[in-house]
Amino acid sequence: MAAPIDHALLPETATVADDGGLLVGGVRLTDLADTYGTPLFVYDEAHLRARCREAVAAFPGGVYYATKAFLCGAMARLAHEEGMRLDVASGGELGLALRAGVPAADLLLHGNNKSTEELREALAAGVGRIVVDSFDEIDRLEGLVADGLRRPAALVRVTPGVEAHTHDYVSTGQEDSKFGFGLRDGAAERAVARLRAPGSPVDLVGLHVHIGSQIFRTDSFARAMEVIAPFVRSCGLPELNIGGGLGVAYVEGETTERIPAWGARVAEACRALGIDATVSAEPGRVIAASAAVTLYTVGTVKDIPGVRTYVAVDGGMIDNPRPALYGSEYEAFLPRAVGADRPRAVRVVGKHCESGDVLLHEAAVPADLAVGDVLATPVTGAYGFAMGSNYNRMPRPAVVFVADGRARLVVRRETDADLLRTDALLGDG
Ligand SMILES: *Cc1c(COP(=O)(O)O)cnc(C)c1O
Repeated sequence: MAAPIDHALLPETATVADDGGLLVGGVRLTDLADTYGTPLFVYDEAHLRARCREAVAAFPGGVYYATKAFLCGAMARLAHEEGMRLDVASGGELGLALRAGVPAADLLLHGNNKSTEELREALAAGVGRIVVDSFDEIDRLEGLVADGLRRPAALVRVTPGVEAHTHDYVSTGQEDSKFGFGLRDGAAERAVARLRAPGSPVDLVGLHVHIGSQIFRTDSFARAMEVIAPFVRSCGLPELNIGGGLGVAYVEGETTERIPAWGARVAEACRALGIDATVSAEPGRVIAASAAVTLYTVGTVKDIPGVRTYVAVDGGMIDNPRPALYGSEYEAFLPRAVGADRPRAVRVVGKHCESGDVLLHEAAVPADLAVGDVLATPVTGAYGFAMGSNYNRMPRPAVVFVADGRARLVVRRETDADLLRTDALLGDG
């Protein structure tokens, strides 16, 4: 019998009621499905706060929550309340963070193609750091500062020619990336020289390097730091931001290192490499991913004898595009019976007109799974809601935060009116 879902994949406050139902933050998941409908993202607020606090402790030089992983007003506030600054990568993310009340000084702006308008907004607001990504961006910054906008503090994004993935670390030997300034071709050195020269449009305070995402081993960060150390030492700038990328376990059997070990490994590498800059980081996934589960309702079960069984739910690639985009894997369970064995192999699909609309290629589910059941997928808190779309003109799901026996709606479900709003013929635009 395939085992029940591993509790290590569930949010930290998950508990099991006497009747076998799952509670998160003291709230029963099946009750949340009844109250708010499905699909529904449920975030464990205590879990989010615990990860933010770990990050703040692990990087005393400052740590930025990478908002692209999951952003709404409540999330921006929560991360900032817990002592994180925010990494934003567009005018939209910047605007939301400011509206949520995060001081501009606590924001860092990324982007390989920041528009003049985005840069103007950032400078006018007084963002704490701009991560400069290209020579064209330097031109634009010069223009804005000449127009009288305030010179921002800035980091130079360096592309080190190494990439880290889940299990491996690849030295690509070249900087084939749309991001940043290459190390080997001398672009990084030229950018630093230009931004330090008299008349520079920024106050250059440091370097930035981001080596990838869903990285399981903190050694990968240490090895990337070895590659950039000579350049970091030669620049002698006071700050180094090592980006984000620490991974999380999505399925049973995966093990990752945790935030405290990441901070310790990076600090140790700095000591060993003679890097005395203040080190900051930008975690996204590791803050938000495991904090959430998505609740769906099973609508149809189609058995094709000798082939497979398809279990179709009321969401799909618009609330979790990662399986379709990256072949990412997930687990599933029934919140009404979280301790049930899962002997049945099925494919969980969504309701979009696309064969690639798969949520779980090989899901293990309980034998009695039936139409009408609420089905949950854990570890959906990062790059799910944030990457969502309205394909097939379906509304984006609602998001709730749960804590201390209470749920609060932080993003309401979209309505038909929301979907029509920008339609010039049918909407109010
Ligand atoms: C995506 C990204 C992050 C966050 O990555 P995670 O894998 O979610 O931690 C941080 N910094 C930069 C520059 C990024 O592009």
